[in-house]
Amino acid sequence: LRPTLKVKDSSEIFEVNNVYCIGKNYLEHIKEMETPDVIPSEPVTFLKPNSAVVPSGSIVKIPVINGKPISDNLQNETEIVVAIGKKGKDIEEIFAGEYIYGYAIGLDLTLRDIQSNAKKNGQPWSIAKGFYGSAPVSDIIKADEIPDVKNMDFELRINGRLRQSGNSGEMIFKINKLISYISHIFSLEKGDLIFTGTPEGISKLSPLDVLEAELCGLVKLKIKIG
Ligand code: MG
Repeated sequence: LRPTLKVKDSSEIFEVNNVYCIGKNYLEHIKEMETPDVIPSEPVTFLKPNSAVVPSGSIVKIPVINGKPISDNLQNETEIVVAIGKKGKDIEEIFAGEYIYGYAIGLDLTLRDIQSNAKKNGQPWSIAKGFYGSAPVSDIIKADEIPDVKNMDFELRINGRLRQSGNSGEMIFKINKLISYISHIFSLEKGDLIFTGTPEGISKLSPLDVLEAELCGLVKLKIKIG
């Protein structure tokens, strides 16, 4: 059974299919990383399983094996999420808008110590980025309710304090480019989500932290760390 998300001001339900994620899509975030990197020439793309998706109100925990958490460095990445409404392959950028069902605010929760190790050893990011609950997503707001997609503000508060803020205009690769790129490599299906990358402001989370993310004036997401 696929996870589902509510659609704001609608009785429709959005069934989640594939979850694509883009890394290194904001300059200030590239600079804040432990090992700062060059600006990528194409979108850095990875996937999460759709079991990573949980709705607002969820409690997210670091996975535990044999009684021991597998990481001691869970971090926040707050990202605009694009929800795909129809199937498409080799989509040209100018037509990308036709495939967008709506938008949401999401968290690309990351086990940073595991990711750093994976990078060092040339291993995949699946555990660091795809564990259960690693992709909390708000209700979806339909595309036609967004006044200006190129100028969407978003932010994250942790325990009430502002910790991340960004604007869709600051993306290195804009949403139409991401849709075109992913559709040329993988194809896109109704129900797919695209996490579009985090601005600066990543930090280590602690148990009981409350994270409130907002696509400003449009939709909110609230989760707690367990
Ligand atoms: Mg991310």
